[in-house]
Amino acid sequence: MSEMATELHSEVQRRRTFAIISHPDAGKTTLTEKLLLYGGAIRLAGTVKARKAAKHAVSDWMEIEKQRGISVTSSVLQFDYDGFRVNILDTPGHQDFSEDTYRTLMATDSAVMVIDVAKGVEDQTKKLFHVCRQRGIPIFTFVNKLDRHGKSPFELMEEIENVLGIRSYPMNWPVGVDGNYKGVYNRRLAQVELFEKGGAHGQWVMPSTVGTVDDPAFADILGVDAHRALCDDIELLDMAGDEFDIDKVLRGELTPMFFGSALTNFGVRPFLEEFLKLAPKPLARKTADGPIDPTNEDFSAFVFKIQANMNPTHRDRIAFIRVCSGKFTRGMSVKHVPSGKSIKLAQPQQFMAQERVIIDEAYPGDVIGLFDPGVFGIGDTICSEGKNVHFADFPVFPPEHFARVQAKDTMKRKQFVKGMTQLTQEGAVQVFRQPEIGVESFVVGAVGVLQLEVLEYRLKNEYGVDISMHHLPYSVARWLDGYQEGKPVKGLDSGVIIRDIQDRPVALFRNEWSVRWATEQNPHIQFLLVPER
Ligand code: GDP
Repeated sequence: MSEMATELHSEVQRRRTFAIISHPDAGKTTLTEKLLLYGGAIRLAGTVKARKAAKHAVSDWMEIEKQRGISVTSSVLQFDYDGFRVNILDTPGHQDFSEDTYRTLMATDSAVMVIDVAKGVEDQTKKLFHVCRQRGIPIFTFVNKLDRHGKSPFELMEEIENVLGIRSYPMNWPVGVDGNYKGVYNRRLAQVELFEKGGAHGQWVMPSTVGTVDDPAFADILGVDAHRALCDDIELLDMAGDEFDIDKVLRGELTPMFFGSALTNFGVRPFLEEFLKLAPKPLARKTADGPIDPTNEDFSAFVFKIQANMNPTHRDRIAFIRVCSGKFTRGMSVKHVPSGKSIKLAQPQQFMAQERVIIDEAYPGDVIGLFDPGVFGIGDTICSEGKNVHFADFPVFPPEHFARVQAKDTMKRKQFVKGMTQLTQEGAVQVFRQPEIGVESFVVGAVGVLQLEVLEYRLKNEYGVDISMHHLPYSVARWLDGYQEGKPVKGLDSGVIIRDIQDRPVALFRNEWSVRWATEQNPHIQFLLVPER
C-alpha cells in the first residue's frame, strides 16, 4: 500500500460522523454537551447551550448573523475519543428547523435518535427519522430522562415499532418498577449501573465476568421486587425479543436502544463507547458511475448546505461540503463538476460551535465550510482535477409552509427574478409556479417558517427588492404521478395544483386528512411525498 493509501485507510477507519435527531426538549443539546465533555472538548461544552439560549426571533437571529459574519446555525462539532475522530453534525431544531436540518442528514453516516422517556416518539423525531430511513442510515436510540418517571420500556419499544416501523434491540434495560427507575442493566456485560442519591451515580460491576441477571448478588443491590421485575423482563427479552444483528443495524432495520439520562450523566459514557464501536465508519457513496470508496485517493466531496452571510457589505456565502473520498488539503485546486471550473480552496474552515478555525487537512467523513465564490449549489460535487465524479441527485424534501411572493414594485421584476433564482440555487426555499396566476408571482415552499422570513429579508437586503408575501393555507405537498393535464383531481376542493422547478405537478393540501381523501378518490394517481427521479 502506498503511504497515502495507508493514511487514508486509518483515518477513515477511525471516523464516526453522525447527527443527533430529536423533538425539541428531548435532550439533544444536553446529550451533545455531555459527549463533548467526555471527548475532552470542554471548551465547547456550554457553548452549545449558549447558542440555544440565544433568541431565535428573526430580527435577533439576523443581528447575530451580522455580528458574527457567519451563521449561528453552525455545522459540526469534532472531538477525539478513545482513538476515534468523532464528528457530530448539528441539526438545527426549534424555530430554525428548516430544510437544512434534513440536508444535514445527507452528510451523516448514522443518527442518534433521542427520545424523552415520558413522551415517547414525537412529531419532529418522526420526520427526521423518515428521512434517515429513506436513505438507509443506521439509527441508534437513546431514551433520555431516565431519572424521571416515564413509560415502560416495553411500551416504548412497541411505540417505536408501531410509529416508526423499526424493530429495536435494547442494549441495556431500566431497573425499577412502574416507571420509577433506579438505574440500568447492561445486557451484554451483565452489569447494573444505579443512580445514587443527590444526582450522583455509581457502577456495580459483577465480580464474575459470567454474571447473569439472576445472580443473587443483584438481588441484594436492587431489592427483591426490582430484581424480580428485572429478571422477568430480561427473560422475556431474551426469549421474545430480536437477536442482535449488526447487519440489520447497518441497513437501518434494527435500532440499538440505550436508556440513560443526559442531565445526570447517567449511562452516557457506556452509550458513547458502545455507539462508537457499532456505528459505521464512512462508507462508499453512490455516484452516477457506481460507488466511490472513501479510501480512493482521488478527492471528492459534495455540497450539502449553503449559508449566506447576512451582512450585505460582504456577501460571502459558505458552502458546507462533506468529504467523501481522498484527502483534502488547504490550497488544493479542485474541479467544480457542474460548471467544469477549477477552484482553489484557499481558506477552508471548520466550524466548531461558534468558532471558525482554518483547517489544513480533512478526510472522508469530515465537514468543511468553503468560501463560495458564487458557483456552488446544493448537491454539487467537487473532485480532483481531471476526474469526473458525480454524486447521486440530492433529494428534495417535502415543504410544509407555503406563500405567494411578488415584488411590490413591478419595475424591480428583473432583480426579483434574479434574487429568487440565486436563492433557490442556494436552497433557501423551493420555488413553484402556479400557471393560472401569471408570471409576476411565485409560490414558495419551505420546511420551516424561518426560511420564508429569511427569504424576505435577503431579497430586500441583497437584491434591493421589497416583496409582498401572502401565506397560503396549505401544509402538505404531494408530487403527483399519473396526473393528466386538464383532468380534474377529485376531492381537491380546497387544495391547488402547482408545478415545481422541473415542471412536475404538485398538489398542495390543507392537511393530511385531505390527502387521504384525495388519495381514495383518485386511485389512478399516486400522491408522492417526494418527487420520483
Ligand atoms: P433539546 O431541545 O432536545 O436540545 O433539549 P435540551 O437538551 O435543551 O433539554 C431540554 C430540557 O430537558 C432542559 O431543561 C434539560 O435540562 C432537560 N433535560 C435534558 N436531559 C435530561 C435528563 O436526563 N433528565 C432530566 N430530568 N432533564 C433533562
